[in-house]
Amino acid sequence: MNCNIIKDLLPLYVDDCCSAESAQLVKEHLALCPHCKELYEKLSDNAPLPLSDTPAPPAKRLLPLRLWQAALLQSILLLLSFTLITLGVSLEAQSPFGFSNGIWALWLVAPATGFMLSLCNWYFVRLYKSRRAFWISSLLLTITTTLCAYLWVIFHYDYHIFFSFNGTLSDVLERLYGFIVLYCEKGILLSALLCTLSAVLSNLYAKMIGKE
Ligand SMILES: [Zn+2]
Repeated sequence: MNCNIIKDLLPLYVDDCCSAESAQLVKEHLALCPHCKELYEKLSDNAPLPLSDTPAPPAKRLLPLRLWQAALLQSILLLLSFTLITLGVSLEAQSPFGFSNGIWALWLVAPATGFMLSLCNWYFVRLYKSRRAFWISSLLLTITTTLCAYLWVIFHYDYHIFFSFNGTLSDVLERLYGFIVLYCEKGILLSALLCTLSAVLSNLYAKMIGKE
């Protein structure tokens, strides 16, 4: 075999690009010819490294804008409800003992507390099967925590309507109605507003983080 032919074939052989027959011929020649073997070794040393199978590390991904917006929405609502609670507590502290005692707790603190506690549910949004299941649970949780906050206010301020059940049922209902109109109307309106917001905004939040 002519060394020149082998020299022509060697780059292909090194790159493993020649046919099996050619490769066999080159291999046989290299076993016999020290000059070509030397050339082969030089070429092999300079041959580019085979491409790695491992993929390049992924570029560092920034959080999508909508995830930032979702986190911002949650933070703003947390701050807002906490501000309402603080405001209600300080107004309550200023109101003189007597008729109006507990009024700010009913108007502001109980609804805002119910809403703020229901925001805890937002941390578990990924556990819910669907966006619908999530906003319904958020709504139910807001209603439940608001009712619990009202119970606390009623016990704390010792409203007598709930602790002296004498008289007929219609008497009790009449007094309950009077109590709601006199003390709770604004609180009930705010609670209804916050429950609606809880449903609407939790749905929006789940949509932002890509929940179907
Ligand atoms: Zn040779």
